[in-house]
Amino acid sequence: MDACPNCQSDTFIKAGIIKNRQRYKCKSCGYFFTTGKLGKRIDDYYVNKALQLYLEGLTYREIERILGVSHVSIMNWVRKYNIKRPYNTAYHPTYRILNHSELRDYFQKTSNIKGAGVLVTELGDKFMLIKWERFRE
Ligand SMILES: [Zn+2]
Repeated sequence: MDACPNCQSDTFIKAGIIKNRQRYKCKSCGYFFTTGKLGKRIDDYYVNKALQLYLEGLTYREIERILGVSHVSIMNWVRKYNIKRPYNTAYHPTYRILNHSELRDYFQKTSNIKGAGVLVTELGDKFMLIKWERFRE
């Protein structure tokens, strides 16, 4: 995969997985397209992200919504890699999907990050911010 089939541009971003195929969105013309088969590296990228989010306390449905990977695949990966979450129902993280300037604005407000744990991870052309407020009282 090296060019958009619609306009031949080479600037495209990952936009989820459809029927086990990596989907891309062209940044020049907005066209969505998929590759033939999932490459090993792309596959690993989503496995890692999904397991990471699972460990952070997100539900299968939430991860499905964020990554565009079916919750059945995620459940299979959790089983395959034998991932166990520490038992803790006291808090649940909240998350937001932000672009770069929104992220910058977010961190400029001290009140947004004071008394909380925040983790930022890349997600396509945006960023995902996961926030815990377990320390806030
Ligand atoms: Zn294009």
